[in-house]
Amino acid sequence: MRLGVGSQGRLRPPLLRALAPRLRTPLVVALVLLSQAAMRSSTRAASTETEACFAHLREGQVEAQVVAAPPAPLADCAIAAPVQLASLRLANGEIVKLPDHPILDCAFAATFTEFVHDLVGPLGAAILGSPVVALATGPGYECRSRDRVVGAKPSAHGKGIAIDLSEIVLADRRRIVIAHPASAVEEVFVRTIRRGACGWFTTVLGPGSDAAHADHLHFDSLSHGANDNYRICE
Ligand SMILES: [Zn+2]
Repeated sequence: MRLGVGSQGRLRPPLLRALAPRLRTPLVVALVLLSQAAMRSSTRAASTETEACFAHLREGQVEAQVVAAPPAPLADCAIAAPVQLASLRLANGEIVKLPDHPILDCAFAATFTEFVHDLVGPLGAAILGSPVVALATGPGYECRSRDRVVGAKPSAHGKGIAIDLSEIVLADRRRIVIAHPASAVEEVFVRTIRRGACGWFTTVLGPGSDAAHADHLHFDSLSHGANDNYRICE
C-alpha cells in the first residue's frame, strides 16, 4: 500500500490524506470557535473582576482610572488589571496625592491604598503632627529584571504588584526622605511604616537591605514559595 507523508512527517494512507482537509476544516472551525468562546469568556471574567476591583477602589475614595496594558518588552512582564492612581482620601477627609501616578495591578492598588489609608496617613498625623499630603512612589509598573540585574528573575514591578516609597510630604511642607530622616521622630515614623508594612505586603525591603534599595522602601505582593503567608520583612 502506498503511504503518504503527513504534515508532521507521519505516514498515513492516501484515502485518509484525501479526506483529511474535509475532516479538518469543520474540526478547525469548531476549535477556533471554541477557543474564541473561551477567550471571550475569560476576557469577560477578567473585565468583570477588574470592574469589581475598580468599584472597590472608588468606594475606598481612591482616585484612579483603568488604563491599557503598558508596554512589556520582556516576556515575563504582564499586568493583570492595570489601573493608574492619582490620589486617595483618608478617613479624616484629607487627600494624599500620588503625583507619580503609579500604574499597578488593581488588586495590588487596593492593598497599597489601604496601607496608606490605614497606616501611613494616620501615623503621619499622629507622630509628626501634620497630615500626609503626598507620596513619591515612582511609576509602580516597570518591565525589568529584579534589581536591574541582567538575566535575573523578572521584578514584581513587571507584574504591577510592587511599589516604591522614597519621600513622604506633609501639609506643613516637610519632606520625609526615607533614606535620611531629619530627626529622631521622623526616624521612628519611617521605622514604624517599614515594620507595619509587613501586615499588607509579602516583601518589604529598604535602606540597609541591599544596594538596590538604599534610598527607598520597596513593597510587593510576590508569593515566596508554597506558603502565601511567608514574608520577607527586612
Ligand atoms: Zn521596588
